[in-house]
Amino acid sequence: MRLTDIGTVKKIMEQNGIHFRKSLGQNFLISESVPRRIAEAGAGKNVLEIGPGIGTLTRELSARSERVVAVEIDSSLIPVLGQTLADCPNVSVVNEDIMKLDLPAFLVEQFGDAPISVCANLPYYITTPILMHLLESDVQFAQITVMIQREVADRICAAPGSAAYGAITPAVAYYGKAEKLFRVPPGAFLPAPKVESVVIRILPHAEPPVETADPARLRRIIRAAFAQRRKTLVNALSAEFPALGKERIAAILTVCGIDKGIRGEKLSLAEFAAIERELFRLKNNC
Ligand code: SAM
Repeated sequence: MRLTDIGTVKKIMEQNGIHFRKSLGQNFLISESVPRRIAEAGAGKNVLEIGPGIGTLTRELSARSERVVAVEIDSSLIPVLGQTLADCPNVSVVNEDIMKLDLPAFLVEQFGDAPISVCANLPYYITTPILMHLLESDVQFAQITVMIQREVADRICAAPGSAAYGAITPAVAYYGKAEKLFRVPPGAFLPAPKVESVVIRILPHAEPPVETADPARLRRIIRAAFAQRRKTLVNALSAEFPALGKERIAAILTVCGIDKGIRGEKLSLAEFAAIERELFRLKNNC
């Protein structure tokens, strides 16, 4: 069965009485080469796939991995996956919402202590929440290789100060090193999305690259700095921490060697971390 053949995909869907659910980001791969290339880049000994769809990428991962656990939210696809993956005994399909899973507990249950790679063609409506759910889970993944919309890939891999730099850039950089692997055109999917896609790989750091008092507070500062990109950092942070006031925040920036008139979009992860340490050192002392 060639799952990348449009006729085959349509027939499988018709026979099982299912329809593409746009609300779940269902754009299935119909390119022969793309699932293979993603799997070549992202397969490992143990793989977590998010959103197997009808199993196109899953089959490629199955051929290159010892064990694959594929988490699919849409229960109507589970019987289909039973058919399309019938000859892949190393694959387990779990009907769950990835966002609702307690990842550390779930992954220990599935894989024990073995290192795990994540490989997926992510649903675009929820790309950033899924990535942050993985990165913030405290699971030390071997690597995360995912296809996402190009705009988000550009943001994740952007340099500070560039137009694409956003809150997600330093937020991801705290957890790992991200790189773009290759582009995928809309025609590789059924139905074709409106945007281009890019496969990225995140290699998690063994240790955080910057020191923080609390990573959650660092994320709060980053989010606040980007909530209103046109505001200066002093204004953005004083809106988030009104008790501190602008003058105190300006003084904190000075202590960190950061220009008071700067906008958040110019700051590197190391600068955000310096602000977090200083801001909370003072705040905890007030
Ligand atoms: N892997 C398939 C492929 O490449 O052809 C399908 C990818 S499609 C872009 C995204 C898949 O993620 C769909 O099967 C969708 O039902 C599933 N999905 C959407 N939200 C999900 C969630 N919260 N948890 C798990 N799966 C989800």
